[in-house]
Amino acid sequence: MIPKIHIALSRAKGMTEGTLEFSFDADPAWLDIPFVGFSSPVAAQLRYEIAEDDSVEVFGSVAFTIAGSCSRCLSPAEERIVQEVRAVFVEGEADEGAGEFPYANGSVDLSEWMRECVIFALPPVLHCASCKRQDI
Ligand SMILES: [Zn+2]
Repeated sequence: MIPKIHIALSRAKGMTEGTLEFSFDADPAWLDIPFVGFSSPVAAQLRYEIAEDDSVEVFGSVAFTIAGSCSRCLSPAEERIVQEVRAVFVEGEADEGAGEFPYANGSVDLSEWMRECVIFALPPVLHCASCKRQDI
């Protein structure tokens, strides 16, 4: 379950920064390495800071495991992926070229960003331990 950050509610509670820890199931369609799938939920550990202008910086990491058949030799393979992530959410118009995401109605929905974080973190192939040694 991906939480939302409610700006006015957070301000009312005097919580202009905080931590978010949650996990969610990745959509199998995000991964297109043959014979490989997600073998764990995505675990997110994030911090957020709400600035004076109501822009919200969110940063931290996402971690998950993929498993299946080695892309080279088809042996069983598994890889734990940990990716540092960061984004700035602004109300209304966002400068997406600068890595900003828009939010509306006073609440920051992290879902679309989380999807992009996972897809960005995915490797193009999955190699088993012995094929990995050959890569070096
Ligand atoms: Zn292999």
